[in-house]
Formats: sequence, structure tokens, C-alpha cells
Amino acid sequence: MLDDVEPSSLYGVFDDALAAVERAGALPSLTSLSGHTLIALDGTQYFCSNKLSCPNCSTRKHANGQIDYFHTVVAASVVKPGKNWVLPLRPEFVEPQQGYDKQDCESRAARRWLELNASRYSKLNPVYLGDDIYARQPVCEAVLDAGAHFLFVCKPDSHKTIGEYLTGVEVSSSSRKIKRGKKFSTYTWRWMPGVPIRDGKDALDVNWLEIAIRDADGKITYRNSFITDLPVGPGTVEELAAAGRARWKIENETFNTLKTKGYNLEHNFGHGKNNLSAVLATLNLIAFAIHRAAELADVAWIAAIEAAGARARFFDTMRALTAYLIFPSWSRLLETIAFKAPPPLPS
Ligand SMILES: [Zn+2]
Repeated sequence: MLDDVEPSSLYGVFDDALAAVERAGALPSLTSLSGHTLIALDGTQYFCSNKLSCPNCSTRKHANGQIDYFHTVVAASVVKPGKNWVLPLRPEFVEPQQGYDKQDCESRAARRWLELNASRYSKLNPVYLGDDIYARQPVCEAVLDAGAHFLFVCKPDSHKTIGEYLTGVEVSSSSRKIKRGKKFSTYTWRWMPGVPIRDGKDALDVNWLEIAIRDADGKITYRNSFITDLPVGPGTVEELAAAGRARWKIENETFNTLKTKGYNLEHNFGHGKNNLSAVLATLNLIAFAIHRAAELADVAWIAAIEAAGARARFFDTMRALTAYLIFPSWSRLLETIAFKAPPPLPS
């Protein structure tokens, strides 16, 4: 039955989770960069097989002739520097598109995501974060066309024109010692406004920035550079670099959690002949989105997690209690985990 369901028919639940956060008055806690919301976009593979496949599989051929069938999804999550939570939004699957001969890819799926969703999230005043493959003119233009902003990782190897602009000229910079734990690190920011993203007359001008962190011995422990359409200068570069660095949260707090912390995103729950694989991945993402929204918006849920001591123990306790007892309501279950109500007596 699920095989013929369109995954997008379930996406409204992501909006419900976001609306619950808004109703609880927790939206301001999501904002960064004075009134913006950081939305990280990133693709992840959640299924791969050389035996099992469906018409919506992407394929990859190895040198030895073996064909991999795989599924990838572009996930979107609200992230914030200094916070270890994410809030998942509507996803977009990478899969063969009608009317296209070429295989679908992450960049095209991301542009589709923007086309389908950017206006829905425009009230969040978003700044889109993404890795180096997003830092290309078509994706940047798609973001700007949607009236939003971008802050994408920009690697020197793949942006030669920007590299040329930075060579041989004085690049603005600032530096500061910051205490991390017991030791001091030196943070250096460099920036240059108005550099062309690529070669050619029609190239989009972007603002470039870089952060480098050196330890007490002068060794570089972190370095990354970004491009953005937001103004870069001495007053904004630190905050922009921190926002750009928050992108890793979609890998760490979203994908790592979904794959290794009990959601088992990569497990083959069933592949089907049509949409099943994407429907099951969507249900998994929805569970994750609701859990995260509850952590931001549901007082009883937050109290139960605090009483359990950790998220993992909260879910363990919930599983253990519900294996033996029948709770009259969801709130009674949460109150029991939070030690605010006794467990119901077995009848
Ligand atoms: Zn498939």
C-alpha cells in the first residue's frame, strides 16, 4: 500500500512540527545573524545495493562493471551556532525526473527544493547553508531568485577565479585570541567583498570570507572559507564565519543521529517497486522532526528528558514502560517518565 504513496503527500507533517515550535513561542530561539534563520541543505545516501533496485534508484557503475543502486535525499534543517539541536524541514529526494534523460543530482534536487519550498519558509528570513557543491552560480542564483540569502562553503580548489582575485593583493583581515578550555587559540578572519564566483562576463559577484584557527604553537587546527551575498566586513565577518561553520550540524546532528542513534535511516525497511524506499525514509525523517520539535516546544517532553538524564535513556525508559504497562494518555506517559505521576496499575 505504501509503495504507491507519494512521499510529498506526507511533507505537511514537517510544517506541523514547525508550526508547533512557532505556537510555543520558540521560533526566536532559532534565529541567527540578527533575525535570520540558518537553513542547512545537504544530501545523504540512505540506501545502496548491487542486487535490490527500483525505477527510482540512482545508479553508479564501477570499473569492474558492477552497478550500485542507491537513493539519496537532500535534507533541510534549521541549525544555529552554539546549539546542538537541529530542526528538520521538508526534504527533497534525488531521483530520476520526468522529462530529463540525465540522472538527477544533489545540485538539481537542491534547486528543486528551493523552487518548491523557499516561499514556504520565507517568513523565517532564511540564509541557506551548504557545502562546496552548492557554491556554484546556478544554486546561488536560485537562492537569490527566491529572495533569500546564501552562505556556502567555498573550497579554493574548485573556485580558481576567486583564488586568483585573492592572490597578490592585500586582503582585509582581523585576528583575536580566544580561550578554549584552558588554552588560547588565535582566530584569524579574512574577507573580500565583490569577487566573481567563476570565470566569464556573466559571473555572479559574491563576498568571500575565511576563518583560520591556530593553536598556541601556531599550527592551524581549523580553516574554512565561504561565499555569501550578505555584506562582509569587520563588523560581520566573525558572525558569518560562525554561521557558516554551523553547517556541519546537518552532518553531525542530523545524519549521524539518523544513521547511528536509533533511527537506522540506512536500514532497508523495504524497497518496493515505486516509492516505498522514499516513503519509509520520509517517515523516519518525520519521527526525527517531531522529536526535535517536541524538544523545543513541548514542556512535558522536555521535563521527561531532563528527568531521564539523556535523550537515549528517555527513549529506553519509554520502551521499557510501554512494554509492560498501558498508559491512558500520552501526557500520563511523559508525566510518569518525569516522576510527576505514578505509572498506571496493571489491570
Ligand atoms: Zn530504488
